[in-house]
Amino acid sequence: MARRQAEHIIVVGAGAAGLMAARELARAGKKVTVLEARDRCGGRIHPLSAAEFGYPAEGGAEFVHGEAPVTRGLLREAGLSSLPIQGRRWSADQGAFSRDEMPVPHTDRFYECLAKLKTDTTVADFLKRHFAGPEYRRLRHLVVRMVEGYDAADPARASMLALRDEWTNSSRSMQARVVGGYGALIDFLAADCRKQGVKIHLHAAVSAIEAPPEGAVVHGAKGDTIAGDAAILAVPLPVLKQIMLPPTLGERAAAAANIGYGSVIKLLLRFKSRWWTTGGGNDLADLSFLLSDETIPVWWTQHPTEHPVLTGWVAGPRTKGIARLDGNELIETGLASLAAIFGLSPTQLTRDLVAARGINWERDPFAGGAYSYATPETRKAQSRLANPEGGVVFVSGEALYRGRDMGTVEAALASGIETVRTMLRA
Ligand SMILES: Cc1cc2nc3c(=O)[nH]c(=O)nc-3n(C[C@H](O)[C@H](O)[C@H](O)COP(=O)(O)OP(=O)(O)OC[C@H]3O[C@@H](n4cnc5c(N)ncnc54)[C@H](O)[C@@H]3O)c2cc1C
Repeated sequence: MARRQAEHIIVVGAGAAGLMAARELARAGKKVTVLEARDRCGGRIHPLSAAEFGYPAEGGAEFVHGEAPVTRGLLREAGLSSLPIQGRRWSADQGAFSRDEMPVPHTDRFYECLAKLKTDTTVADFLKRHFAGPEYRRLRHLVVRMVEGYDAADPARASMLALRDEWTNSSRSMQARVVGGYGALIDFLAADCRKQGVKIHLHAAVSAIEAPPEGAVVHGAKGDTIAGDAAILAVPLPVLKQIMLPPTLGERAAAAANIGYGSVIKLLLRFKSRWWTTGGGNDLADLSFLLSDETIPVWWTQHPTEHPVLTGWVAGPRTKGIARLDGNELIETGLASLAAIFGLSPTQLTRDLVAARGINWERDPFAGGAYSYATPETRKAQSRLANPEGGVVFVSGEALYRGRDMGTVEAALASGIETVRTMLRA
């Protein structure tokens, strides 16, 4: 017997994917209930208070990468704008600063080998196969730094073909920030959902989903139950494993193990002034990114705006060494890294500190890490997870996105739309 068209849909998770899905469903005339575990919408989009940092600083997602058509469309709809990243990148090595524009050695050979790659392999394997010699040491270092630092990925698992797509996408270097922060986009999306009749419940963590013949039954962690015709699970991959799922979906969800999911530790340090602008005797007034080999290796400013805030970043396997530290210890580690880079004393920097946050996303119970990346097995795993196989429980979120921008806000928004299309077609 054909299943009747779903009328009441329960969306689990009010991140970018869940809200986008909820809005699409409401626009298609469905009754929609969103259940969100946190006390706020946005998930891995996490605006910090403007009172604390002087602007709505980003504890999670910060940049709009590349063309990002869905994100930019939504920004236009919301009347928001974006500001392209400007300024200069620098590298610091044992107290010596240099403009981060030295040509990467052996680039031509690297891209030749990449172009010839037919069967997917991991980054580590690719480097071992083609660039094992000592003359490639710097190339290997730069490739690994990019894979770990940007994609939060483990080179021993990351797909070389997926990274080829990313690195040969010329628009990817276009980066911008949302004026007013990504939080403004989430506020718009949540308000639009509510305007269309979507009910959003906060503090509503879901612990189990059942799929009896008549629909979907969602169990809250507090013992409450809500029944609908279908459900969309728009939670991060590690959380998917913690929710008790109907047997058929449970088997499919095991495929999630073949999707990479990386960690990020992000620090935000607000100082009394932009003391770094003359750092190391250089003119760093238009500093954008600063790369180093310190414990917290990557730093960036808010240039071209003049907020005296430095953001520190560690991603991928390098987070392991400091994963046990709490927020305060992370801040101390960040100050020590900055002091080493600029040849200053940590005490001096601490005196200038106005506000600080150290966020280890792996410790966040509703995120379990930062974002996903492709392994050679990921595309198959995504197809398996996204295919509802006639069931009533659908999976959505950035990790399900099969385009080039996996692990981004764009991926999450696009996945939300795609899931609803699949559901309405089913
Ligand atoms: C530090 C950091 C920096 C990033 N930087 C960028 C960037 O610069 N640019 C970019 O494009 N992307 C960036 N990202 C990635 C981007 O934030 C994510 O890809 C995107 O926000 C994911 O959206 P989502 O809806 O798929 O998942 P989420 O935003 O994680 O939403 C899932 C929601 O489900 C909720 N939830 C979890 N468990 C339960 C439960 N049991 N019951 C009910 N609800 C539950 C969560 O609280 C959350 O609100 C960054 C991420 C991090 C962590």
